[in-house]
Amino acid sequence: MFFSRSIFSFKKPSYLLLAVLFFLNALVIQNTYAQTVVTENGRLQVKGNTIVNKNDKPVSFAGNSLFWSIAHNASNFYNAETITHLAKNWKTSIIRASMGVKEQWDSGKGYIESPDFQKQRIKTIVDAAIANGIYVIIDWHSHDAENYQKEAITFFTDMAQTYGSNANIIYEIYNEPIHQTWREVKAYALPVIAAIRAKDPDNLIVVGTPQWSQDVNIAARNPIEDANLAYTLHFYAGSHGQILRNKAQIALDNNKALFVTEWGAVNADGNGTINKGETKKWLKFLKKNHISHVNWAVNDKDETSSIINVGKGKAGLLNNDLTASGEFIKEIILKWSAK
Ligand code: MG
Repeated sequence: MFFSRSIFSFKKPSYLLLAVLFFLNALVIQNTYAQTVVTENGRLQVKGNTIVNKNDKPVSFAGNSLFWSIAHNASNFYNAETITHLAKNWKTSIIRASMGVKEQWDSGKGYIESPDFQKQRIKTIVDAAIANGIYVIIDWHSHDAENYQKEAITFFTDMAQTYGSNANIIYEIYNEPIHQTWREVKAYALPVIAAIRAKDPDNLIVVGTPQWSQDVNIAARNPIEDANLAYTLHFYAGSHGQILRNKAQIALDNNKALFVTEWGAVNADGNGTINKGETKKWLKFLKKNHISHVNWAVNDKDETSSIINVGKGKAGLLNNDLTASGEFIKEIILKWSAK
């Protein structure tokens, strides 16, 4: 009796200590899980020719681009479930919402004719990205944005006002100029950038470059003055190799930061077979230079760049009903580390 009581009185403080340690440990574990990509890295900032996180460390992120928001089946993928699935199961750390502006085939659903409809579609994706703690690119997905500068100013002013205080947000103000000169692109871009900066002084802005966002070398030689701006580089490994990487290298050598808001492992027209060898060279280049990259596209259209099998919709994504591109890209994104 005496013996057991003495044991008890001796052990009592130890049990208490253990309980406290257990509680503290649980708190640490909880905080570890609460950390998201964006809380860990904060607002992205251009520093020289790299993009750095809140601790001034060069970082690059890997993720997916949604297909045109004006596509007939866009509602399958412009929803929170798609974003949550990619963030949780693919470890996608950046998503791109590709807002169709005005295309001949848009049936009046583009931003120019249906601004509220499109804005809501994009906000659904932005809100889902924020909820999942990942980055989101708000993409003015146009090949002739200079024709819609006034509308771009209205749209981006609204986005900057609504979301400018969120570290998650990246503005992409011109997807792909084609025949336009850099001078023309710049004339479009400057007032749009000024409108964003009036509401949001500091989030990253990405600007498209001539020739389907390939002539980053030309843009780099006549840059836009802004403290947090990168230039868009697009590549498709089935069509583009060392010649395009040389252009990218010129931009980097001119101390300009690049952002791959769109790329594919197949041909530039969205078809053809996967070029694994050239993709590997591209990924090595991106890793070396800390360049973020976003794959085209989250879609189930009958083309080889689609990540989901034809006609399978959102359920196809959720059930891993993936194309060869889908399987290949998923592996790349899952294995990518930001640092
Ligand atoms: Mg801001």
